[in-house]
Amino acid sequence: MREFFQRFPDEEACLEHIMNARFGGTRFDCMSCGTVDATHHKLAKRRTYVAACCGHHVNPTAGTILHDTRTPLVSWFYAMYLFCMTRHGVSGKELQRPLGATYKTAYRIGQRISDLTVKAQNFDALFFGHVELDEIYVGGRRSGGKRGRGAPGKTIVMGLASRDGDMKAVVIPDVKEDTLRNAVLDSVEPGLVVSTDELVSYNLLSGDGFKHGVVKHGAKEYAHYDYRSSETFHVNTVEGFWRLFKAAVRLTHVQISGKHMQRYLSEFTFCASNRERVNGMFDLLVEAL
Ligand SMILES: [Zn+2]
Repeated sequence: MREFFQRFPDEEACLEHIMNARFGGTRFDCMSCGTVDATHHKLAKRRTYVAACCGHHVNPTAGTILHDTRTPLVSWFYAMYLFCMTRHGVSGKELQRPLGATYKTAYRIGQRISDLTVKAQNFDALFFGHVELDEIYVGGRRSGGKRGRGAPGKTIVMGLASRDGDMKAVVIPDVKEDTLRNAVLDSVEPGLVVSTDELVSYNLLSGDGFKHGVVKHGAKEYAHYDYRSSETFHVNTVEGFWRLFKAAVRLTHVQISGKHMQRYLSEFTFCASNRERVNGMFDLLVEAL
């Protein structure tokens, strides 16, 4: 906490950080008159910088979730910092006291930071390398049970994990062939190597040029090496992720409704994908503002 307040003691420090993240500092080509390398000065008591050349106003928070917020920037930054430190979503209760805000405000800030993790993940990016796929059923009355098909209130989630550590989880409406196929094609470049378990619907993958290997969990097979492609097929990476996810669901969020599932998954995959880049996490959030 002390480390945080040394780095961001006041509004100006936060604003300067946003300025750096979005414009690379206070010297850049003027957006109004085009002066090259124009200097920009902070206006006292306002969230605005002024270009020295022509007086053009630049508001570093324009177009971000911080635009027009009455909550101090330090509070927003502290909430993001807390999120990166604890590595899970920050609840209104956790934020309320340190921010000195009402529960409603603190709750809203927590949700906005959740949204940032979705933005920060660049959901359109395609995976590279060997990708593992596995779907689980979460929520409902008996939380986290795998293969609990058709249980009321359960949300189906497809997990995609690349062996180099990137992770993504998307809520899907059903496990029909078309649904699974579209979810895979949205994230994985055709032609890549893909591991799944024996769920029938994944048979469609070979049609799109994927090198698809199947582990037969029903036959107690957990990995197999394919001599022709020199690939080891298994879904241990994505299953390891689901184990952590389910433990977190049990520990921290008693019930997650389907409505909030994607948000919660995004937080979780954001933290999992960036676990080697703790300091970078905060910067990714600021850049996603
Ligand atoms: Zn100018």
